[in-house]
Amino acid sequence: MSDALFDLPERYRTLQAEARELAESLRERAAEADERDDVDPHMRAALAKSGLVGLMVPARFGGRAELVDSLAVTAVREQLAAVSAHLDSLFAMQGIGGYALGVGAAPAVQERWLGPIGRLDAIAALGLTEPDVGSDLRAITTTLTRDGDELVVDGRKSFITNAGDADVYTVLARAGDEYSLVLVPADTPGVAVERPHQIIAPHVLGDVVLDRVRVPADHLVGAAGEGFALMLATLATFRVSVAGAAVGLAEAALREAVRHTTGRSQFGTPLARLGPVPALLATCWTEIEMARALTYRAAAAAARDPRASLHLSSMAKVGATETAGRVVDRCVQVMGRFGLVRGSVIERLYREARPMRIYEGSTEVLLDALAKQLVKRFS
Ligand SMILES: Cc1cc2nc3c(=O)[nH]c(=O)nc-3n(C[C@H](O)[C@H](O)[C@H](O)COP(=O)(O)OP(=O)(O)OC[C@H]3O[C@@H](n4cnc5c(N)ncnc54)[C@H](O)[C@@H]3O)c2cc1C
Repeated sequence: MSDALFDLPERYRTLQAEARELAESLRERAAEADERDDVDPHMRAALAKSGLVGLMVPARFGGRAELVDSLAVTAVREQLAAVSAHLDSLFAMQGIGGYALGVGAAPAVQERWLGPIGRLDAIAALGLTEPDVGSDLRAITTTLTRDGDELVVDGRKSFITNAGDADVYTVLARAGDEYSLVLVPADTPGVAVERPHQIIAPHVLGDVVLDRVRVPADHLVGAAGEGFALMLATLATFRVSVAGAAVGLAEAALREAVRHTTGRSQFGTPLARLGPVPALLATCWTEIEMARALTYRAAAAAARDPRASLHLSSMAKVGATETAGRVVDRCVQVMGRFGLVRGSVIERLYREARPMRIYEGSTEVLLDALAKQLVKRFS
């Protein structure tokens, strides 16, 4: 049977090829870049030159499409994450950090920031999480107060990707029960970055301290009280792309395991033909293809209508990131002690797979939300 029914349209295959070419050109750089906690200038320059970040902003601001297209972002992330988590994150965050601006920011603010974000001249970030608040974002304590022509933002955002390198933060803050997004340029007085945590797979990550930061009133993104709606729009567009990255990472791990187990023999037989190893490898392959099928189904649905297909995006995110976790763990196992060597590709992938099941909606939080929908839909 032909795969034609399931092939991506040519436009997306062209994008995949562009992303693969970029990632391959940076493969040697990945080992070093992926251990950094600040942005690698070489990768940034190469990504900017590729023009791929243009996918993250609307065409009227110099971007590559009318709207940000979840399928395009997913297809690109699959290729980038197969080579470098650092490269993938740098690409993804321009969309995740900048998307709400394209939807709801004042025209002058859009004009100021979206062009630079789409060219990677400005780095974007999204500040939701706080030291005491992760999944339960309604409990945030960062405040937003209007004072004449200005907004005052006060609080601390924690575990923020691109903190320290970002030029602009989109921050969730509250005034009583009203939650809003506000744009905070990184050079605003009162903004400071601290790096209290380092995680198992280094990431450009830090806490953003907002000490009575004042920004002009037009830096409110969308209307007051629209914070959660704008966040939902962002998640609906980008959640499925995490699944794309997870599929790319899992396949990269499987390639490593196949290379190692075909090249090494024990008991006079290549590992790839020994005992349970072939079945483990074939199971990995099967699970990756299942994850990929769901990922692209969800991404195609999100490209048509992100909100109506958020349940599929959540399933794809859970399915693909959990698959990546299982796959990379099995790959380490079949590589024996060589799977544990610090600095090896498989060891890096093993560490990089782990946070995917926690950020942008942990597996349990997404399953909980899906379970609630399931009851509504099926009863
Ligand atoms: C690499 C990385 C990058 C990140 N980048 C950003 C960023 O750029 N911006 C940003 O704002 N944040 C960022 N985060 C933070 C991330 O969004 C949070 O880690 C995530 O929302 C989970 O919150 P938490 O870690 O506080 O876990 P908690 O909310 O404390 O939850 C811990 C665990 O409890 C379980 N749990 C919690 N609530 C429920 C529930 N209702 N039902 C079932 N189980 C539940 C889940 O298993 C969850 O994993 C990043 C995190 C990482 C690891």
